[in-house]
Amino acid sequence: MKILNTIRDLARTQPETLAYISPKTEITYSELWRYSEQVATNLFNQDLKRHSPILIYGHMEASMIISFLGCVKLGHPYIPIDTSIPMDRVVNIINNADVELVINCSGQEMDLDISALSIVSFEEIQLLQPAVQQIDSTNWVNGDDNFYIIYTSGSTGNPKGVQISADNLDSFVNWMTNDFPIHGPHRFLNQAPYSFDLSVMDIYPALVSGGTIFAITKEMIAKPKLLFEALNHSKTEIWTSTPSFVQMCLMDPSFNEDLLPELAVFLFCGEILPVDICRQLLERFPKARIFNTYGPTEATVAVTSVEVTAEMLDSIPFLPIGKPKNDTQLLFLDEHGEEVQTGALGEMVIIGPSVSKGYLGQPELTERAFFEYKGQQAYRTGDSGCRDNSGQIFYKGRIDFQIKLHGYRMELEEIEYQIAKSTFVKTAAVIPIYQKDRIEYLLAAIIPNKHEFEKEYQLTSAIKKEIGEFLPAYMIPRKFSYQKELPITSNGKMDRKAIKEMVLK
Ligand code: AMP
Repeated sequence: MKILNTIRDLARTQPETLAYISPKTEITYSELWRYSEQVATNLFNQDLKRHSPILIYGHMEASMIISFLGCVKLGHPYIPIDTSIPMDRVVNIINNADVELVINCSGQEMDLDISALSIVSFEEIQLLQPAVQQIDSTNWVNGDDNFYIIYTSGSTGNPKGVQISADNLDSFVNWMTNDFPIHGPHRFLNQAPYSFDLSVMDIYPALVSGGTIFAITKEMIAKPKLLFEALNHSKTEIWTSTPSFVQMCLMDPSFNEDLLPELAVFLFCGEILPVDICRQLLERFPKARIFNTYGPTEATVAVTSVEVTAEMLDSIPFLPIGKPKNDTQLLFLDEHGEEVQTGALGEMVIIGPSVSKGYLGQPELTERAFFEYKGQQAYRTGDSGCRDNSGQIFYKGRIDFQIKLHGYRMELEEIEYQIAKSTFVKTAAVIPIYQKDRIEYLLAAIIPNKHEFEKEYQLTSAIKKEIGEFLPAYMIPRKFSYQKELPITSNGKMDRKAIKEMVLK
């Protein structure tokens, strides 16, 4: 496997270079290789089923990255789970993926009562067997074997696990290191927690080019003073984030070239990149280059890109998402599965070597979204878009109820399903409330069951408490509105447009 081979070579040729920096730890390439070798050796003694996925739980720590590499060195894909994911959701993922082993890097107790599941802390796995033996590269994940499985929101009420193989990841990392100005060792900012595939955009391009990952924690994000101090000494050269995150930083006037003098490249992915953000960035970081990239987790992080120039900003109101990477094709299909003409809107279908084999243990969902096209794996994105005469692609929204809120992907139907499960709720509809083109917050319109609460806010906090056991905080609607009934369309579906008008009256 190319990625592992390259990291092994770097551990030999530049052993003392820092591979990863977080507030608590710094590790060099030689430590990364050695410690992950130790994890792999200990996993070898755990008697796990071949290729069975290992769940890695924790936040932005070197131990997470060490564990990822340890797993794949022994042929096991990893499932990265951030500490922001509630335990009931973690249990659901463990059951869905048939996980036999959890490596807990969080430093906190994990109270899971699941038979046939072992939980070991990272410290334990490091101590188990101090003498490191070399793990032969024939054990590594390879080709079509899964490298990682990332869980995203699912419209049926449960998260779904996207399987990304070694080949999928190789295709993505080759593109990043060849087609973007990130040759040679650079300092990468790592903003996205490892449950989100945006984090893959910094982890592996940084590690195969001999660079250093600088991790930002949720504590920093919650306290701008800490965040800006960290950014200031981060020496960041390559910035990877959602547009929402950089927008938050731009609210502070000190977010500029003086704060980050080495910054050379901004890479954005995950949601619409507004023209206004790019304008401010080019003003405040005149030496930096900006790239808009697009892609779903199902096609390994991103598959199209475009450099955003000052001329582009002056000539068009909406930025394109660019052109596909060389090994990938994008089709625009109408509702009959026929290709539309240039300029016309169609559902975007991604075809190429970075497209996943499908959702783990979910053959029906997989069949609905994935298919083979002329011998290659293809994925129906659910995104609507068009291509202009010059080949530039424009994203034009969703054809279903998947949304992005502050950079997080979620299905409105999953939130509705979880709210409707609350003992206090008869029916629920979740409505995105927009400001200009962006979703500002979610509103839940609810028909409540009979309850004893005197005030609505008490009912709201009781519902929030229940749904918070399964949904991460970013998926919980900000506002709740209680109704006697909710409008439905003539064919019996929830009439979101009418509900929105009703609750915003
Ligand atoms: P995720 O799997 O979390 O990366 O989310 C994938 C979805 O995010 C895509 O299917 C799009 O709907 C949206 N998305 C990703 N990148 C962009 C972009 N550059 N512009 C607009 N939407 C995007």
